Amino acid sequence: MRFNDTPELAAWRQQVRNFVHENWQPAEGESYEGELGGGDTDPAREAAREKRISGWLDKLGANGWLAPAWPKKYGGADMSVLEQFVLNQELHEAQAPTSRQMLNLVGPTIMLHGTEEQKAEHLPPMLRGEVAWCQGFSEPGSGSDLASLQTRAIRDGDDYVVNGQKIWTSGAHRADWMFVLTRTDPDAPKHRGISYLLLDMKAPGVSVRPLINMADGHVFNEVFFEDVRVPVRNRIGEENRGWYVGTTTLDFERSNIARAIAARKSVEKISHYLQDRTKAGDPVAAPYRLEVADRAIETAVCALLSFTVIAIQARGGVPNMEASMTKMYGSELSQRISWTEMHISGMKGQLREPQGLEGAYKIRAAMDYMTTVPATIAAGTSEIQRNIIATRGLGLPRG
Ligand SMILES: Cc1cc2nc3c(=O)[nH]c(=O)nc-3n(C[C@H](O)[C@H](O)[C@H](O)COP(=O)(O)OP(=O)(O)OC[C@H]3O[C@@H](n4cnc5c(N)ncnc54)[C@H](O)[C@@H]3O)c2cc1C
Repeated sequence: MRFNDTPELAAWRQQVRNFVHENWQPAEGESYEGELGGGDTDPAREAAREKRISGWLDKLGANGWLAPAWPKKYGGADMSVLEQFVLNQELHEAQAPTSRQMLNLVGPTIMLHGTEEQKAEHLPPMLRGEVAWCQGFSEPGSGSDLASLQTRAIRDGDDYVVNGQKIWTSGAHRADWMFVLTRTDPDAPKHRGISYLLLDMKAPGVSVRPLINMADGHVFNEVFFEDVRVPVRNRIGEENRGWYVGTTTLDFERSNIARAIAARKSVEKISHYLQDRTKAGDPVAAPYRLEVADRAIETAVCALLSFTVIAIQARGGVPNMEASMTKMYGSELSQRISWTEMHISGMKGQLREPQGLEGAYKIRAAMDYMTTVPATIAAGTSEIQRNIIATRGLGLPRG
């Protein structure tokens, strides 16, 4: 198997690299982990981080690179699957942010199912970062079994009146809009009584309550609706067809190369840290060699899974079991790596502001462990991915 770039892709890669080199300067100590990260508990640092990210994303957007799969007329770049892959690879290698909150979830849905008015109203400001979005799908009793959701929308003239609750809503505390799944027909089979609405977060009756995660970060929230009026013109697609609207995604690049790159960088960091400790005569370092070697092998497997997915997409196929394998393997690997980091660094790795050698290598093992746990839950838990691999991939019986 060969993974070399064609001459065209090599030229494209160089173009992206030059752009990143000229335009992206990460600040010392700032983290760019995205929505699953711990967030920064210091408001001033968080504000500086967000400003820096937003300025960078504006530059990406000006090139159409914020939504590379979208047609140019909507502000995208009409990129091929492999061009997107290379763009993503290079951005993640440089540890640069790649997208705005929820852009790749709601944007393609509006593009495919929205009216011309809805597209004109929502797509340009979304790309420019003038409005932030959040995803109102999960409810306290409906996560993996999402179609059982209970938030009710009842038609009243030109509006729906929405009552209910969402949970784990990432970024709801700074969102202007929510794309939300609601039940419009409680008597229909569960997948067929759902409608997809765009809900203004400033509408009367919406309240947001923070949920602080175990890393002490404010990433997600509970959101409550009490008689919230949503104009019928804000429904995407037909009434009661919202389930099928909600499962749309044109975010073509599903290879999860970001995880493979992050895993490789973490293993490199741990190896160098261990080498330095060994040089300093630390007898504790040697027994961990084999564990780090295991992580290095798994990191290479993770990258190969990503290449498998992208190869299927480049041939025009739709990865199914392979996408689940990549998501599950990569998210569980990130936990194993932070577990290894914890073994190696011991008590020194528990500090949030590490000192000495741990400080130099930014070894924050406990924090890393806590911020990698959600990755195996969000966007389909590991168990659900295993179900997909077993049933759709291997043809094993359900239940
Ligand atoms: C960091 C983070 C951000 C999130 N952001 C959002 C967001 O912005 N918007 C949003 O709507 N949701 C969001 N979620 C919610 C996420 O989609 C759900 O947590 C996820 O779908 C799992 O649902 P649940 O938490 O209700 O767990 P449940 O579905 O109740 O699952 C509980 C346990 O049972 C297992 N299980 C369930 N069903 C099966 C089955 N059929 N076979 C085997 N095992 C099963 C699960 O794997 C899990 O271990 C976020 C979650 C996280 C962690």
